[in-house]
Amino acid sequence: MSYYEIIKKFEGFDFDAYFSNVTDEDVLKSIQKEKLNHLDFLNLLSDKAKNHLEAMARKAHMLTRQNFGRTISLYIPIYVSNYCTNKCVYCGFNQENNIKRKHLNLEEIEKEAIEIAKTGIKHILLLTGEAKELITMEYLMDAVKILKKYFASVSIEIFPLEIEEYQALKELGVDGLTIYQETYNEEIYDEVHLSGQKKNYLYRLNTPERGAKAGLRTVTTGTLFGLGKLKEEAFLNGMHAKYLMDKYLGTEVGISLPRINNAEGGFQTKYQLDDKTFVQFILAYRIFMPKVGITVSTRERAEFRDNLLKLGVTKFSAGSKTSVGGYQEEDKSTEQFEISDSRSVEEIVSMIKSKNYQVIYKDWELIV
Ligand code: SF4
Repeated sequence: MSYYEIIKKFEGFDFDAYFSNVTDEDVLKSIQKEKLNHLDFLNLLSDKAKNHLEAMARKAHMLTRQNFGRTISLYIPIYVSNYCTNKCVYCGFNQENNIKRKHLNLEEIEKEAIEIAKTGIKHILLLTGEAKELITMEYLMDAVKILKKYFASVSIEIFPLEIEEYQALKELGVDGLTIYQETYNEEIYDEVHLSGQKKNYLYRLNTPERGAKAGLRTVTTGTLFGLGKLKEEAFLNGMHAKYLMDKYLGTEVGISLPRINNAEGGFQTKYQLDDKTFVQFILAYRIFMPKVGITVSTRERAEFRDNLLKLGVTKFSAGSKTSVGGYQEEDKSTEQFEISDSRSVEEIVSMIKSKNYQVIYKDWELIV
């Protein structure tokens, strides 16, 4: 059994018809329920639910306080290579883009790590493009060993691996995996991934599950809003997270809400996720899955992120650079996408504190 079988069950489901038949009463009933089913989740994602955002926000706020307290965890990304053999039409690192490419050697990774560690953040997220001749398992393992010297928690957002490969990284101290499906719609997936390993929809879809099977402590899923129909994507991503939570009780499952930003190559989105719907989706995720971690990155504008604090978000990136070598001044590469919240870590920390929330720099340390 894999999540693909659940997706298949919804293949003939008329989402548009369901959403257009949702009533105010349906939404209010779903908000009040303690345990929601998938139809309740759909109700909360419907346009009708936009009439009830205040009630949803109250419930989401209460559930977040109950499960996470008044806390926000911070993490910071490190990009080690922007070479990539894939052609994802929405990404600045797409093989076809004529950008400044950079691949950090181990010494350069250490220099970046030292620079990043000065911010005080203890959770780092390692990112790279997919170029297996350059980014070998050996290279990844060496990079993790270096990062573990400076950070309590190392997560990865890299190309999909096998279970044994995740296990090997886990043994060195990797505890989290972030992997976005980008779009759950198989046809669109095929259209936007022109070539390369990433073209394999099913292999990618099963990646979070391989991470959970390898025993990684956290697994974060996501859909890149802008590629497919918004409500359907939110629904199938939420169901994916729920599937993982129900099946892998020892894994903390998270969900992230990236929406397409400007990147090299000038990809234009067909489905624009506006701020109000973005908020609605966060609230729906929280009410449907009270214990799910919710991440919002620096793709989002500063004042918008500030307003999301009380609505269910549990994790923020801070002080991010999306270019390779970006934390050192000289010789940076092209960015993967544009950052919207360019505040320093100190500025984000003081904003969080000003809202009476506690900043979590470190909630975990794997002793290896
Ligand atoms: S999204 Fe990832 S796999 Fe696709 S081009 Fe960008 S870096 Fe490569």
